[in-house]
Amino acid sequence: MSPIITGLLLAVAVSLFVITMSGRAGVLLAMKKENRLDQIPYRVAQLVRFGLGQKRMVDPEEFTPGLFHIFIYAAFMVLAVRTVMLFTMGFSSTALEVLTDFSHPVWADVPALAWVYRVYLLIKDVVAALAVLGVVFFVWTRWKVKPDRMSQSWEAYLILGFIAGLMVTEFIFGGGHLVTAHAAQGAQATAPSLAWYEPVTSAMGLAMMPLGPSAAHALGTAGFWLHLTIILAFLNFLPLGKHFHIITGLPNVFFQRTHSTGKLPTPNLEKEEFGAATVKDLTWKQGLDLYSCTECGRCQTHCPTYITGKPLTHKAVNQDLKHWLWDHEQWVEEGYHDGMKQPLPEMIGSALKAETVWACTSCGWCEQACPVFIENVPRLIDMRRYQVQVKAEFPPEIQRVFEGIERQGNPWGLGQDRRDEWAEDLNLPTWGDGGGPYEYLFFVGCAGSYDDKQKKVSRSLVKIMREAGVSFATLSKQEMCNGDPARRMGNEYLYQTMAKTNVESWNSMGVKAVITQCPHCFNTIKNEYPEFGGEYRVINHTQLINELLKDKRIKLSAVMNTKLTYHDPCYLGRHNGVYDAPREVLKSIPGLEVVEMQRSKREGFCCGAGGGRMWMEEHIGTRINHNRINEVALTLKHAEDPSTPFPDATDKKKPGQVGDYKETGGSGVVAVACPFCSTMLNDAVNDTGREQIKIKDITELVADAMETRGGTVAPGVTVSAKPE
Ligand code: SF4
Ligand code: SF4
Repeated sequence: MSPIITGLLLAVAVSLFVITMSGRAGVLLAMKKENRLDQIPYRVAQLVRFGLGQKRMVDPEEFTPGLFHIFIYAAFMVLAVRTVMLFTMGFSSTALEVLTDFSHPVWADVPALAWVYRVYLLIKDVVAALAVLGVVFFVWTRWKVKPDRMSQSWEAYLILGFIAGLMVTEFIFGGGHLVTAHAAQGAQATAPSLAWYEPVTSAMGLAMMPLGPSAAHALGTAGFWLHLTIILAFLNFLPLGKHFHIITGLPNVFFQRTHSTGKLPTPNLEKEEFGAATVKDLTWKQGLDLYSCTECGRCQTHCPTYITGKPLTHKAVNQDLKHWLWDHEQWVEEGYHDGMKQPLPEMIGSALKAETVWACTSCGWCEQACPVFIENVPRLIDMRRYQVQVKAEFPPEIQRVFEGIERQGNPWGLGQDRRDEWAEDLNLPTWGDGGGPYEYLFFVGCAGSYDDKQKKVSRSLVKIMREAGVSFATLSKQEMCNGDPARRMGNEYLYQTMAKTNVESWNSMGVKAVITQCPHCFNTIKNEYPEFGGEYRVINHTQLINELLKDKRIKLSAVMNTKLTYHDPCYLGRHNGVYDAPREVLKSIPGLEVVEMQRSKREGFCCGAGGGRMWMEEHIGTRINHNRINEVALTLKHAEDPSTPFPDATDKKKPGQVGDYKETGGSGVVAVACPFCSTMLNDAVNDTGREQIKIKDITELVADAMETRGGTVAPGVTVSAKPE
């Protein structure tokens, strides 16, 4: 076409791009170091599955937008090769002739290559046409449907315009060339027809035939230059907005963490790593996370803070930090501002509000939903660490939790000497008292030891384990909090003290396997204690009971003729993938029918207690536990009477909002597997006057089902002897 114009366009666009990118890269280089190059085979597999394969884009909840996004993504991949060809054509008229004309003698010498090129053109035509459909879908969705999770912005429409422009100009260029090539054949030319390898481009050529060769040539040439201009403008626009993810998304998927989301990073307190104050305390990967946010809003759909009106969403935190970072690139690179005199401002106060950082329940939904694997919880906890350990600024009600753990080894600050009161009459073996050997340490947990309702769960679990002949012992009065609440509330020093003390003690006693009845204990001991030398086989009570049932070591002799729903604890489900065991246990209880809530399993909705929120007041928005109990009530009501309207599953924001469904009633049982969930849902039952709903741990239901004497479990739920 024209080497001079092509060269000029490239030189200007690439220079501008390099200038912008050097600022973006300079910021990442100025941030904290972090090794994300371990476990390369795993990273490559994740990149193929979730990056190139786009697995998270087509989850059932978001299938249609995910599919159209994949069309656009595929078009970009295929057109990347085409872009190289087009620039080559811009520089060389020979390349133009060869790449647009299969009758050129070059192809006769390499017929196999000509076929490969034809197949490529076919794929290019099909994906480009699908991408245009995708653009139409997204314009319609943004303009008319306006899904709650999507932010409206001119940028989105501009980018959709760029994408459509790229596809259409490619077709116009090809179509114009077909018309002029046909005219060049003169009188011997056969009537033009659709070519199988360029169905859309040849259709465009046919449509342009009436224009005549000169006009078609001019239009095709304009299409060519417009195409190159759009590509270069697009390239320069990418690092300025949310579409930066087109460049950073795949690397971000590759550099994702390689362990459970339940494990937080462990700072070296001896090196004074006391948390994140300024953006320079974030790592380069956390910076890359910010660059990669697509603002798709998937992280909001089941976020308890977003749905109940708190000032926190994963998307908004990314946006706020990213814009702060981009507005202050020079400060970040230099580490100072105001002529090297002033230290960088802290994130809380300049980019984020303190309420945002303290609102998170660490439920993990946002990270599970994010298609580019942006990590949110570790970043927020790192900010809490700084607030607690350096500034001593935190919600005042958690002060007594810290003191309770420090002085009495439990967050309520109840006497250590009362820790085994729940089992006074059970004559349980104590590890280290000369008995044994025991297979399992039964780590009862603070709630299981001190909370009246949870003590019944502990006793039920003991009953089940004794019936099955499980070899276990407790630590009796020597048991201490595992430290999870302190860690999630930012008191890393206290957490590490508890973790090191426990691990040292358990290792000296020869503990190899641990049973827990609290998902928070389970998560911490399983995922976080190994870093301190605590390598144990950790089993949650629902997994244990499921194994005992499968091995026929316990017998369920009662029938419970009722429907019941199950609430997934975040630290059992999302953070540790235990979804099936609790359900299998419930389904093995004769007569019991489990009805699923709309938000369940991976999409489960937090009770509001995680991340230390159990001990904090909830001043802003609707209470999270009220929202959840509404969803429970609605599910139970729908199970009783299927004509009760069940909200559209695609309407993510509305289900369960307080007041919306209260009048629908709903009575029965919601099974839980976590003491925090139990407390939160019980409180919600009391607050909202729904005493007809009973909260029962799975352990209690199994223990009830082992009885043959019959009785009442909850209003309308009776236990009767199973017929022989
Ligand atoms: S954090 Fe992830 S899920 Fe949330 S808007 Fe950004 S890309 Fe989407
Ligand atoms: S972890 Fe849960 S509460 Fe916190 S921002 Fe993510 S979805 Fe919201």
